[in-house]
Amino acid sequence: MIKPDAVANGHAGKILDQIIQAGFKVVALKYTRLSEERAGDFYGIHRERPFFGELVRFMTSGPIYAAILEKDNAIEDFRKLIGATDPQKAEAGTIRNLFAKSIDANAIHGSDSNENAEIEGNFFFGADQRF
Ligand code: GDP
Repeated sequence: MIKPDAVANGHAGKILDQIIQAGFKVVALKYTRLSEERAGDFYGIHRERPFFGELVRFMTSGPIYAAILEKDNAIEDFRKLIGATDPQKAEAGTIRNLFAKSIDANAIHGSDSNENAEIEGNFFFGADQRF
């Protein structure tokens, strides 16, 4: 997902270009806005964390781009491309280093395993929306 801060700041196009230039194939793409319920479900694993309310509030604050991306070694390579969760700790040139301001408004989400990528892809896309 390209998160609401990056969309609002006009960075979505540059971020998508950086992803494509890094060798990822865009299999599915959608411009949408999460409801509170959907954002809570998506981040259900963090429900007990102190920042959960803030996370849901932020993720519903504006539209996002959701995508399914394909590449060899995609999970690891994408985590490298986006950088650390906290943009202050993200390496130079990573998407979060370039486009994020804070640990909650951190521009982009990437799945952390193949298993979660499948769950998260199914969260946004039906079979007829993948190419
Ligand atoms: P990610 O996989 O790098 O996105 O990080 P996590 O799965 O650990 O956390 C999910 C999202 O929750 C992050 O991308 C942040 O937007 C948010 N988040 C994580 N830690 C914090 C925190 O300490 N404070 C706040 N406000 N948000 C956080």
